[in-house]
Amino acid sequence: MFSIRSFCRPQLRSSISLLLQHSSYTSSAAAVQADRTIREGPINDWTKEEIKSVYDSPILDLLFHGAQVHRHAHNFREVQQCTLLSIKTGGCSEDCAYCPQSSRYDTGLKAQRLMNKDAVLESAKRAKEAGSTRFCMGAAWRDTVGRKTNFNKILEYVKEIRNMGMEVCCTLGMLEKQQALELRKAGLTAYNHNLDTSREYYPNIITTRSYDERLKTLEFVRDAGINVCSGGIIGLGEAEEDRVGLLHTLATLPTHPESVPINALVAVKGTPLEDQKPVEIWEMIRMIATARIVMPKSMVRLSAGRVKFSMPEQALCFLAGANSIFTGEKLLTTPNNDFDADQLMFKMLGLIPKPPSFNEDETSQAGDCKEAAAAASSS
Ligand code: SF4
Repeated sequence: MFSIRSFCRPQLRSSISLLLQHSSYTSSAAAVQADRTIREGPINDWTKEEIKSVYDSPILDLLFHGAQVHRHAHNFREVQQCTLLSIKTGGCSEDCAYCPQSSRYDTGLKAQRLMNKDAVLESAKRAKEAGSTRFCMGAAWRDTVGRKTNFNKILEYVKEIRNMGMEVCCTLGMLEKQQALELRKAGLTAYNHNLDTSREYYPNIITTRSYDERLKTLEFVRDAGINVCSGGIIGLGEAEEDRVGLLHTLATLPTHPESVPINALVAVKGTPLEDQKPVEIWEMIRMIATARIVMPKSMVRLSAGRVKFSMPEQALCFLAGANSIFTGEKLLTTPNNDFDADQLMFKMLGLIPKPPSFNEDETSQAGDCKEAAAAASSS
């Protein structure tokens, strides 16, 4: 076997040695922060500058260190399969600029009432048979206030689907404290409520509810003992600082969200963002790898927009640290990847479905950041 020592001429050896020394002096921020994350576990005192420097690291280095953190914190072959069903479509009063379900935009989408129990349970059954372990129900509402009858029906759906042996998630708009508690009692695993973008860019995208209202819902969800699923969308016309700002808000929550969906805008005709240019794979990789390094234990979900990426491109996302996808024909109202293509991708890439988790303590899975850091530093 060759080694540098036995193979290289002395002059060449000294050049390589110099090069290695130099490269250690110029370690990227991704390398430095990944190393810190691996040593200390999840932390929640990130500065924006730290996250920005990780995000700006040379892309292959960022990818490599995202992969390292991923392998340290997770079984790198496991990918969670979630199915998202729109149980109440369209007619929403909000003005989210990316959303075809807003009643303010003419997208040709037909509003529908809440789906009945049989149809929802049938859909959950099919999702389970197709390998999905988490079933997410989405309703196009601003909030659930004044929707007692429909809310009670959803509590019933949650109970039934949980009894089928699946994790259950809902995304129903803003919640009150009491509603979060009722969902928890019904057996809800996780609640999705995305922050969408940075606090600064947010008013360009939504004006009908504030960033702080969104954070309040996340607080109620967390306090009720439900896992938090919260991420954002890139490709809304935001600057890189806004992407960093979004990750900074999520990574400095008292406890990191258990799931962080990273969506690429699917520009829908009729919405104000219909002409946005598509997100490139490198932008997704930057977001995913940075999210992985700053929130090591979270499930990072390659979400909307996946349908635009080839299998090798998706492979890079998994390598960078994504470990969850949505499967099924549609993502609420926009097209999703073909079932057979996903099966083939799992086979080709050696991925395995992540089994469901019903550990009642899983709400602390993402780690009480301070405790985890303290435990790591005292060991
Ligand atoms: S994203 Fe949700 S809240 Fe916003 S318009 Fe669409 S359905 Fe309504």
